[in-house]
Amino acid sequence: MTAEAREVYDTVIVGGGPAGLGAALYLGRSCRRVALVDSGDARNMAAGVMHNVVTNDGVTIADYRARARAELSRYTVEFLDDEVTRVAPEGERIVTTTRGAGTLTSRTVIYAAGVRSRLPEVPGLAELWGKGVFECPYCHAYEVRGGSFGVYGGSVPGECLAATLTAWTSSITYLSDGRRLPEEERGRLDAAGVPVVADAVLGVAAHPDGVEVKLGDGRSLALTALFLHLETEPRVAPLRPWLTAEDLASVQTDERGRTSLPRLYVAGDLGRTMQQAAMAAASGGLAAMSVNADLVREDRPGALFDLPPAAH
Ligand SMILES: Cc1cc2nc3c(=O)[nH]c(=O)nc-3n(C[C@H](O)[C@H](O)[C@H](O)COP(=O)(O)OP(=O)(O)OC[C@H]3O[C@@H](n4cnc5c(N)ncnc54)[C@H](O)[C@@H]3O)c2cc1C
Repeated sequence: MTAEAREVYDTVIVGGGPAGLGAALYLGRSCRRVALVDSGDARNMAAGVMHNVVTNDGVTIADYRARARAELSRYTVEFLDDEVTRVAPEGERIVTTTRGAGTLTSRTVIYAAGVRSRLPEVPGLAELWGKGVFECPYCHAYEVRGGSFGVYGGSVPGECLAATLTAWTSSITYLSDGRRLPEEERGRLDAAGVPVVADAVLGVAAHPDGVEVKLGDGRSLALTALFLHLETEPRVAPLRPWLTAEDLASVQTDERGRTSLPRLYVAGDLGRTMQQAAMAAASGGLAAMSVNADLVREDRPGALFDLPPAAH
């Protein structure tokens, strides 16, 4: 091995959530040299635990991450508790700059930095996020099944959150916060048997049974849990100006994390994956397999089938 090759990682993984850890496991087991950089503030940290993780349902996030790292210590995976500030191509390499450790040079990067949930600006909501105020029914509704649920704001998309929640309770109220509902949305809620409260939502606060919602007409609504329709924001700052959030959605060319940018792969919540931990971990594995195959292609031209041309 040349001195240059020793200094260059096969892959730098940005993000040590389920996606980054999944990618690291596949690449470590592919005898690849990997650096995984993680700043330690996962999207779901407020919830403390993760459900729907087979053999680990209800595992604490800290425990999940610690056990993943212990498993990975068997392989050629280095961990850096650090923040990536810049990822940029440099010829046949990618240079990743971190706040603490300086620069890391690699042949490929798997970008798995996740997304941020954009909470509506309702007083008290952020304090109860993950503790009475939730987004995902599959992650949280079982623990509060049979209770009184509220669903707040946003539009009612194809997969209507309020209707979905009828699997866990028959007591659901849709809070439109003064928004006039289009006919189609109102029809979905009617079909689900979900009443609408149209008053402004002034704030939320902790309540002995869950969450208290303060309404514009002076009334309060006591709920076991409040579910939100949310927008999310991909955490792409280190990729700018190479790539913007809008670009990121369009550069992913296949379900295996490849992008139309050379040597950059994406995995997890900020890719095309359904935003769930197990799916994120699986998409990390898929991106890792793409990386490995593409490095074999590069090192042994003609040994693997060529990739089909990018879809766009
Ligand atoms: C409140 C809440 C509860 C949830 N509960 C569940 C659940 O019970 N079950 C379930 O399946 N899903 C749950 N989810 C969804 C789940 O959290 C995500 O689908 C999953 O965490 C996505 O994994 P990821 O690796 O893509 O991103 P993340 O888990 O968000 O990990 C991304 C990592 O990248 C790091 N990072 C970001 N930027 C940088 C940078 N510049 N430099 C270095 N590191 C960086 C972050 O620190 C973070 O550790 C929940 C989500 C929320 C919001």
